Amino acid sequence: MRCRLCGKKAIYKELRFCEEHFTSYFDKKVKKVLSNPLFKDKKLLVALSGGKDSSALLFSLAKLVENEEIDFSLKKVEALYIELGISGYSESNLKASKELCNSLSINLNVVNLSDENGVSVDSVSKKSRKVCSECGVLKRYLINRFAFESGFDFVLTGHNIDDELFFAFHNLINGNLNYLARSGKITPTDNEKKLVGRVKPLYYVSEKETAIYCLINNVPFSREKCPYSKNNAQIEMKSKIPLLLDSKSKKISFLKHLNKLKKYFPLEEENSVEKCERCGFPTTTKICKFCRIIEKNK
Ligand SMILES: [Zn+2]
Ligand SMILES: [Zn+2]
Repeated sequence: MRCRLCGKKAIYKELRFCEEHFTSYFDKKVKKVLSNPLFKDKKLLVALSGGKDSSALLFSLAKLVENEEIDFSLKKVEALYIELGISGYSESNLKASKELCNSLSINLNVVNLSDENGVSVDSVSKKSRKVCSECGVLKRYLINRFAFESGFDFVLTGHNIDDELFFAFHNLINGNLNYLARSGKITPTDNEKKLVGRVKPLYYVSEKETAIYCLINNVPFSREKCPYSKNNAQIEMKSKIPLLLDSKSKKISFLKHLNKLKKYFPLEEENSVEKCERCGFPTTTKICKFCRIIEKNK
């Protein structure tokens, strides 16, 4: 099969692109989101896990800035790695994150869950049957807190279209319409509530596409699988979504139409988001989930 733009050998059959045109297709997707004037002169923090998605995002972003395709300074872009303490897994993710940031001359911040709280995901796993969802809570909390306390305007994450579809189905099935209403490509910053806005530049990019991007551009990333992901409901559901949404265009169409419906979803009363009595960060209960998980596992 040949590239539909230049006739060279196509490496991505779904869209019929050669290496070069696949890379520029991917970079354009990232550019489209980040060209929003909302991000001009803002301090951006890329949440880096060491995996393929966030690594592809940071690589693409750095390249777009360097080629002056998006108008902001790399001085205002930093990365954050959360050391969660998962033995046999965290080490290689941190190594890949360091390698990538060194090669792009981007400052990598590291926040260590157990240094500050005396709890690691390994220790949480011994007491919890929901280690993946608790790990998610810990990670999101630490990313937001670091970003807020360090004065970043937005956090950029590597969530892709397959993550978003899982999120949509999961929340629809469980009736979490509030979560769904707040999700999307860009969520705003709310300094009053100590919530830093989130941006997902890979919103319309698939998991497979980020893997191809990393491989053809030699982006360093960790291939290690999380030891706790074996019984992960997310992986199971993700494997079933393509049975129904069996092409990229159907996936995009589903999300676009769901987003149009969002305005009809009920949003919790504004005042139901309060400050955690322990840490002061937002919660809908007296004590936030992060503080409760730490308490339970100390
Ligand atoms: Zn081509
Ligand atoms: Zn708290």
